[in-house]
Amino acid sequence: MEITFLGTGAAFSPDAYNASILVDHEILLDAGAPLTVHLPRAGVSLDAPRAVLLSHFHADHTFGLAWLMLGRVLSNDHTPPLSVYGPVGTTAYLRQLLDLAWGEEMRRLSWGRLQLTVQELTGGMAFEADGSRGTAFTMKHARRMNCLGFTLERDGVRLGYTGDAEMSPQLEALVSASDHVITEMTYDQETGELHLGRRDVEGLMERHPSTRFIITHRGSEAEVSGAVTARDFLTLHLPLP
Ligand SMILES: [Zn+2]
Repeated sequence: MEITFLGTGAAFSPDAYNASILVDHEILLDAGAPLTVHLPRAGVSLDAPRAVLLSHFHADHTFGLAWLMLGRVLSNDHTPPLSVYGPVGTTAYLRQLLDLAWGEEMRRLSWGRLQLTVQELTGGMAFEADGSRGTAFTMKHARRMNCLGFTLERDGVRLGYTGDAEMSPQLEALVSASDHVITEMTYDQETGELHLGRRDVEGLMERHPSTRFIITHRGSEAEVSGAVTARDFLTLHLPLP
């Protein structure tokens, strides 16, 4: 499995782009980065992603999808279909996002030409994305928003992705179900609400010693001993050596 980080900064990071991770050139985990710039810069066509998994509806995880969807349609008359997976409310959210970004006519054009399918998920649901088996986990993050993390099984790797999350039993279950996990770490010193801090991640690593940790959604330059720190455009091959 190959993963490329198209954005690794927390929402208001001054030095890294917002969340998006490309798996095997075919699946995007979140879409906060400027995808019409960052996919080509990573050597990947806008047509390559077949599935997008959205963890939740905050702008730093989703707004890049407005560019990917219309940009892909306008640059290729025969672009392949796209599937989006996300929390309950994803269909309505995408409609609003595209209406606001480009207007109703362009929303209809991109939706139709991408043969867009949307699958709304709740915690515990299994799904299949681009031939990979996935499971959704409910994450504790923004109070009035449905927030998910995911595991994806592909090429013998069980990859977990926390999206945005504070500590919770479901987060422990996600890490436990993963042999590699991409985890957020927004805070350095604080342990906080809404997000994870360095001590939270260190605690998870202690409790799940057989899981390899990769840190993204970084709010600082803090590193954690034993974990990989993701940077924009870092590519990793899993399983890690
Ligand atoms: Zn968030």
